[in-house]
Amino acid sequence: MSGFIDVHCHLAALPTKANGCRISRKMLNSPAARMVAALQGLPLDRPEEANAKYLATLVKEVEGSRKLAKAVVLAMDGVYDASGRLDEAHTEFVISNDYAAQACKASPKLLLGASVNPMRRDALDELDRAAGLGAVLNKVLPNAMVFDPADKALSPVWKKMASLGLPLLSHIGFEFTLIGHDQSVGFPQRLIPALEAGVKVIAAHGCSNGIFFQEPHLATMDAMMAKYPNFFVDLSALTLPNRVGALLRLTSRPELRGRFLFGTDYPLPCMSYPALMGGLGAFWGAFTAGNKFDRQAAVLEALGVSPSADPAKVLRLE
Ligand SMILES: [Zn+2]
Repeated sequence: MSGFIDVHCHLAALPTKANGCRISRKMLNSPAARMVAALQGLPLDRPEEANAKYLATLVKEVEGSRKLAKAVVLAMDGVYDASGRLDEAHTEFVISNDYAAQACKASPKLLLGASVNPMRRDALDELDRAAGLGAVLNKVLPNAMVFDPADKALSPVWKKMASLGLPLLSHIGFEFTLIGHDQSVGFPQRLIPALEAGVKVIAAHGCSNGIFFQEPHLATMDAMMAKYPNFFVDLSALTLPNRVGALLRLTSRPELRGRFLFGTDYPLPCMSYPALMGGLGAFWGAFTAGNKFDRQAAVLEALGVSPSADPAKVLRLE
């Protein structure tokens, strides 16, 4: 397969009677949700129509990309209480695995990124079910899903994922919408138990911290790369001003390109300005790319950090 696979592409969906998705009032009124709705002209009072429109826009952009072979579209699990039941009060939003699987039918270029919070009581069964639906990875966001990946109680989950060949994609760094939560669960070293269990782990956002130029996790990343051949990072969201400091630092690690995977964090913007490091011509190429995925690819190319990990060796592709 030629072309990149975007391993970090978000679905958005409002709840309907049948889709298993959820969204809190707070999340619906958040600046991020309002911005996406405004930019894409999504009618928030008509969920079916809004969901179809979001998906159609995504498919159009994926299929219109010159650089992209496929995109992994991500479900998002909720928060679970101590007994492993969905904690509705603390769950900001859910994109169900069934909705994400259904969305993948919209284009042969979409791959299923399931999301199974390891704290749920039926986690092992849901991982089996997700694999049966064709999941190529399991996406988690520990800060929002309120769990610690280093929790010893999770070892059966990591063993299950290793036996299924299902990689773990985990958010790294600060999560601005969750101020007050324990942010340290987003540190990369918390992923070591999963790596030790033999799971292929993809740390999102190039291990950037997400608070502008403080990048304490890159030294950790270097050490983990050296020790664990099953450790990878995706380069999603790195053109955003709060993460670009990490992108610039990754340019001095060309030897790690074989561990880098392509990612955008769609629908977040992919910005052209970091390509200025490669000169005006490179910037202009990115600026005029006309497609979010192609712009991200152009910026990474301009900086000499184009991912060269083989996605077929990381993702659970059929
Ligand atoms: Zn993301």
